[in-house]
Amino acid sequence: MPDFLPSDIQLLSDQMGMLVAEQLRPLEEELSPDPRVAIPDEIAQLVRQRSHAAGMWSLTQPVEFGGKAAGALAQTAVRETLAAGHLRLARYVFGPDPGVLASVVGDLKEQYLNPLLRGEKRGAFAFTEPSGIAEHKPTWAIWDGDDLLISGRKSFVTGGGTADYYTVLINVEGSEGSSRPSGPAMIVIDRANAGVKIESEFHSLEGGSHVELSFDAARVPAWHLIGEVGEGMPRALGNIGHERLAVAAGMAGLSLWAVNLIDDRAKEIHRNGQRFGDREGVRLRYADLRIATYAARSVLYRSARLVDDRGDGAINEVMVAKVFCTEQAGFVIDQAVQLAGGGALVVGHPLERAYREVRSSRFTGGASDILRLNIARGRLEFDAGQV
Ligand SMILES: Cc1cc2nc3c(=O)[nH]c(=O)nc-3n(C[C@H](O)[C@H](O)[C@H](O)COP(=O)(O)OP(=O)(O)OC[C@H]3O[C@@H](n4cnc5c(N)ncnc54)[C@H](O)[C@@H]3O)c2cc1C
Repeated sequence: MPDFLPSDIQLLSDQMGMLVAEQLRPLEEELSPDPRVAIPDEIAQLVRQRSHAAGMWSLTQPVEFGGKAAGALAQTAVRETLAAGHLRLARYVFGPDPGVLASVVGDLKEQYLNPLLRGEKRGAFAFTEPSGIAEHKPTWAIWDGDDLLISGRKSFVTGGGTADYYTVLINVEGSEGSSRPSGPAMIVIDRANAGVKIESEFHSLEGGSHVELSFDAARVPAWHLIGEVGEGMPRALGNIGHERLAVAAGMAGLSLWAVNLIDDRAKEIHRNGQRFGDREGVRLRYADLRIATYAARSVLYRSARLVDDRGDGAINEVMVAKVFCTEQAGFVIDQAVQLAGGGALVVGHPLERAYREVRSSRFTGGASDILRLNIARGRLEFDAGQV
């Protein structure tokens, strides 16, 4: 094991393993294997209750809201253990994450952050601009008194169809003679705002639901700004760094799950009467899966430790972990499908689901190539990080 966890974090990871095996697996087995059949609300609710009872629900939440605000290493360990269970129900295990609202105060805290953490409101993160529109102008805002009038479009807003509000990256334009600040900013926009329209709703292959939004001079008061105008990118990216480590942990856990599945396959008697894992060709491929998983987990745990040590100072290492763990998981799941045989591609087979999940992970939280460019930039232009 590459993780060498301190005993308190190992205990948390073991408790997550027990929650998965004893409490969640039996619920998972009640679900339809057909990915198009929605998970019943009562089962999702049971997962939340069991996660609360096991002390997992609040691990990602701030202490002031009764959460445990576990550090990066602890969160990584429990997320990986959960992912190694490969449950569709995993999405209901952790309580809402404050995300980009983490540091807000005053009315934003009262009206958005607190209800989010209590589970009374849902938010969605609107960062990505749609592609394929000629001369597209990124979502912008102009000042009108103490309000901002926001126009433009955002796409791939996950959970946007059921969200109560969106946290949106905008560009606030300056005007001649005005003392109002200009530059990138993050802002909260209510879904019910008269200037907001859901243009389309679509689903991606891992099962996520997303919307494309349009803003037509949506009037939003200035107190909805998260931080200052000009801080848009660092505010948005602060959340993304956290998400990237979580994606990396999820994909390392998924790799572990797949290799363990192939262990079982290797012990089976193949139709030619030989034990499947006795063939040298199978063993070579199997060893590659173990190597990839071990290497991904090593990068993951090293990066999580650096985050606990240096916070934002580990931004480059987190990008490496995200790229490496998602790409290694892509290789592992692809090869696991090959070893498992055609049955692994039948809809409802757990490897078929893993195959869909792993592909999306190379986009969520930043496409691999974009992260590569940022890693190079961090090193060459800022001499940052230990990568
Ligand atoms: C499942 C899923 C969930 C998502 N959830 C959200 C969400 O909640 N909120 C949100 O805002 N977004 C979300 N996204 C969007 C995601 O962040 C984007 O897909 C991602 O940032 C890439 O942007 P893009 O799709 O516009 O592709 P593009 O930016 O067009 O990039 C496509 C490809 O072009 C290449 N490329 C692009 N730019 C460069 C460059 N400068 N140099 C070299 N190569 C380049 C890369 O290979 C890249 O992979 C989600 C995406 C997925 C798949």
